[in-house]
Parts: sequence; structure tokens; C-alpha cells
Amino acid sequence: MTAALYAGRFRLNTLILEKMNVGGQIILSSTIENFPGFPGGIATQELIDKMQKQTQDLGISIEPKEALKINVHTKSEKPIYEVITQDKSYQTKSVIIAVGAQPKPLGIKGEDRLIGRGVSYCATCDGPLFKDKEVAVIGGGDRAIEEAIFLSSYARRVTVIHRRNALRASKILEEKLRSNPKVNFILEAVVEEIIGKDKVGALKIKKIANNSIDTLTCQGVFIFVGIKPNTAFLKDMLQLDESGFIITDQDLRTSLPGIFACGDCGKKSLYQVVTACAEGATCAAAAHKYLL
Ligand code: NAP
Repeated sequence: MTAALYAGRFRLNTLILEKMNVGGQIILSSTIENFPGFPGGIATQELIDKMQKQTQDLGISIEPKEALKINVHTKSEKPIYEVITQDKSYQTKSVIIAVGAQPKPLGIKGEDRLIGRGVSYCATCDGPLFKDKEVAVIGGGDRAIEEAIFLSSYARRVTVIHRRNALRASKILEEKLRSNPKVNFILEAVVEEIIGKDKVGALKIKKIANNSIDTLTCQGVFIFVGIKPNTAFLKDMLQLDESGFIITDQDLRTSLPGIFACGDCGKKSLYQVVTACAEGATCAAAAHKYLL
């Protein structure tokens, strides 16, 4: 949305293609606490609506379509890109890729089979289903800790299971979590299996120090073990790193001229709304310069 906002203000002829919902991954959180300008935080949907309104006010439209492929035509001085969707294609001199990422699965026994039956990757979506139930959260990053705090307002007990002794999440989140009486921790442990016939009933947990196995009874398990970029459709086209993140230079140029990338689909050190916005602005400025 920020890339479109800046592109629109440069008076570039701008179109947004959106596969699912404006706002992308942040919709998985209920509140954004660390976006500057909103002391006390802002409801995620409100932030999304405000950003969308800013682009709409510039007359930029959003087509509800998924980009499936980008073809390159190199007859002219600068390449022309053809963005292919299911039923339509769009020719353009420049593309800003902001396709984001999605939660990474853990890849353990029972996980796939019990998705939607107690296994979840979105506390905002599924948390209310676990009122007065026992849930586990797997992971020690910002998302796991934020979501564990959110889940504690519904669940009777929240157990955070993390593979190391120290959490990866920011200290302010950790402090909030540790002072929450509904939350307890199982540290230096990994989940080996999600047990349950038709729905989640328990977890099989291995302590790393001595390989001992324990069972934790729970009705829900929320998995937050990192993100996977939505870049599969670009793999034969752009330079990606080994995990699929798009490699860019400091102006967010990709390996093809006129194609830029911002937000969680790119390789960087800090995955935040504020860095995604900053990168969106940088991409639009770089695209403007390229087109001039
Ligand atoms: P993350 O920061 O990469 O953390 C993933 C966590 O999962 C880590 O604690 C990691 O353990 C653990 N993990 C990874 N693979 C595992 C496995 N196979 N088994 C068990 N545990 C495993 O990912 P995230 O929390 O999903 O967040 C993604 C990005 O979005 C991050 O850059 C994060 O900072 C950002 N984000 C920020 C906010 C915020 O600022 N409010 C909110 C949400 C997300 P180790 O620590 O041992 O590696």
C-alpha cells in the first residue's frame, strides 16, 4: 500500500493486484503496537483501512487478482513485463513485488491432518474457538509471544513451547508474557507429534537435554516458527536466496531491471510493518527514477 501511495504521488500510472486481502499477514495480529504515531497501538484493521483509503484518495484501484507469472519482452530499450493472472494480463514497464510471506509449517506428524481441527497458524482467526480450553504455542519469536498473549484472553491455560532457553522475541513482549498468570513455559524442548484422532488432544514433547518424552494435554496448538516468502511463482525469473526470499540491492532492485521488491518477500534483517512501509516508499522512488 505504501509503494502504491508513493507511486501515485509520483503520478505514475499505478495498479495494485491483490490475491486475497489488503494488509496481508498483519491481519493475523489483532493490534499493531509498534507502528510509530499510534501510542497504545492501533487495531490492525484500522491501520489497513487508513492505508487503503490513502491510495484510494489518489485514484489507485485494486484488482482482486493473483499474479501467476511474469513474462519478459525485451524488444524495446527497456523490457516490458507482462503480469499474467488467471483471466487477464497486464503490460507494464515496472513491477513492485510486495507479495509477503506466510507462516511456515513445523512439518511434524499430525500437523497437516489436524489443521482446522485444533492446529492453527492464526490466533486472531481461531483464538475465540478455544475459550476456557488449554492451548499450546510453539515458537519463541515475536509472533509466538504476541499470539500467546492474545490467546490468554480466551484460553484457560497457554503453554509456550520453545526449543531454546532464551526467547527470540523483543523484551517488551517477553515481559508482558511472563507477567501473565495464565501462561507457562516448556523451554529447551521440541514437539515431535500432534496427537489426536479427529481433533487435537495432546502433544508429544521431547526435552532436548536428555531426550525424555512427555505428553501435554491440550485442545489447540498454534504454530509460529517463522515465515516462508510467497515467491514460488518467481523462482525461474528472479534471484532468490536458499529460503526463497528475493535478493535486492539497497535501492530494492531485483536481478531484473525495472522489477523491485519490498516487505516480507525480500531478504532483510528486520521483518516489521514499519520496514515494509519504508521499503515500499523506496521501491516507488526507485521505480520512478528507473522510468525517467
Ligand atoms: P521468527 O522471529 O523467525 O521466530 C521463529 C521462532 O520459531 C524462533 O523462536 C525459532 O527458534 C522457532 N523455530 C523455528 N523453527 C523451529 C522448529 N523447527 N522447531 C521449533 N521451533 C522453531 O518468526 P516469527 O515470530 O514468525 O516472526 C516473523 C518475522 O516477523 C520476524 O522477523 C518478527 O520479528 C516479525 N514480527 C514482528 C512483530 C512485532 O514486532 N510486533 C510481530 C510479528 C512478527 P530459535 O529462536 O531457536 O531460532
